Amino acid sequence: MNFKDYHVHLEQGPYTIEWIKKFVEEGEKRRVVEIGFSEHGHRFIQAVNLWGSHGFRGKWTGSEATKDIDEYIEIVQKAKSMGLPVKLGIEMDYIPEHEDEIWEFVAKYPFDYVLGAVHWLGDFGFDHPALRDEWNKRNIDLTYREYFDVLLKAIKSRIFDCIAHPDVIKVFGHRAKADLKDIYDEVARALKDAGICAEVSTAGLRKPVGEMYPSPAMMECFKKYNVPVVINSDAHRPEDVGRDFDKALDFVKSYGYGKCAEFQNGKFRRGTGIYALTVDS
Ligand SMILES: [Zn+2]
Ligand SMILES: [Zn+2]
Repeated sequence: MNFKDYHVHLEQGPYTIEWIKKFVEEGEKRRVVEIGFSEHGHRFIQAVNLWGSHGFRGKWTGSEATKDIDEYIEIVQKAKSMGLPVKLGIEMDYIPEHEDEIWEFVAKYPFDYVLGAVHWLGDFGFDHPALRDEWNKRNIDLTYREYFDVLLKAIKSRIFDCIAHPDVIKVFGHRAKADLKDIYDEVARALKDAGICAEVSTAGLRKPVGEMYPSPAMMECFKKYNVPVVINSDAHRPEDVGRDFDKALDFVKSYGYGKCAEFQNGKFRRGTGIYALTVDS
């Protein structure tokens, strides 16, 4: 089976065709026949106000916003016009108090799809290496609850076509003591109601937690509601494109996934042929 990888970041190199080709070539070695680039929204000067705060989030994202989105769009469109198998996406953080501005921003540009992600709980960037010690001061169960509350809002906002790394809150290996089954069920139901898909990300295998996002328990709920899933790498360098996709495919197949679905015209808001897997019926 061939793969597509819709979560790939160009940000560690220049916006050039040569750099894009490196990702395409590495992907080919792992049977990845299409790549969707999904730069972090906070990297763009034009989006600097979307993550504003008076604390760490505002300060850090402000310092990261150094790239010009028009250059990004231009180079991916040029690659497309040259026949390279690429799509134009973006990974947008969901910040509840900035929901309207996020909507306006994604509507302004010709993205093929938009990944939604939660990395911030207020000013706590829970996966940010500089804030790792903050976890020691926190109640893990409450932090998980807070994360899933924001995630549910992100899903219900219907801004996004796909939710990235749905349980990334576990990134450093902190585990909630509470049973999360009901929360996972709520997340899966919300995804189904919104008609959007969830990412199965192999990036977690390269993080301290050492397992894929989502966990088996969350995957069980995705299966229950037949939430479409997309296998992605979250590669930040060419050699990570398609990494561990065979493992991810075995994982989703063990839940009955395997039927390929192309979401077009209406199913997803942007509807440009996003490919996902659903449960075989
Ligand atoms: Zn992310
Ligand atoms: Zn990412």
